[in-house]
Amino acid sequence: MRRAGPDLRVAARKAVIGTASANIAQGQSLSYMGRMKRQILIHPDPRLKKVAAPLPDLSDELRLLSDDMLETMYDAPGIGLAAPQIGILQRLIVLDCVKEDGEAPRPLVMFNPEIIAASDETQSYEEGCLSIPEQYAPVTRPAEVTARWMDRDGRAQQETFGGLWAICVQHEIDHLDGKLFIDYLTPMKRQMITRKMQKLKREMARD
Ligand code: ZN
Repeated sequence: MRRAGPDLRVAARKAVIGTASANIAQGQSLSYMGRMKRQILIHPDPRLKKVAAPLPDLSDELRLLSDDMLETMYDAPGIGLAAPQIGILQRLIVLDCVKEDGEAPRPLVMFNPEIIAASDETQSYEEGCLSIPEQYAPVTRPAEVTARWMDRDGRAQQETFGGLWAICVQHEIDHLDGKLFIDYLTPMKRQMITRKMQKLKREMARD
């Protein structure tokens, strides 16, 4: 997911990660030290409409994949990324919705995430998506959700999220079910955005 508006916070966080990378050179380790940026698929793409498969078990390969996804997300910059967005149809998402400048990053890696409870209260937020660049529209979702997932170390986790975290975790889990934020919009608005993306992809192919 991409946040609307200029995002100085991300620049600040990248600086923090830069420092972290320097620490790694001195022998310390950090789980979110990325290896490789992946290419993000742009809508429309059939892979973005598919239901992703549950992960039977964790492996080093999957852990490294999650590192790549965090690297790709921070670089974009974005606050959430789902595996189908890089063409991998497995139930894995990453997110970091830390808002405040100077606040420590909080990279979350979620294998097989699911929403197990949602509030009746809703909130509306101008959503964007790394697979739908430069397009934003308000989407209404439950204001608070409880998610359950397996973390990078294979431990079961559960947490209740509010605010931007709640929006982001729902947006990313939607990706695992082949659903995009534009699917919540009117057909006319969705079509308009899809045409813009088709045009963008034609232009990108020409370059
Ligand atoms: Zn998205």
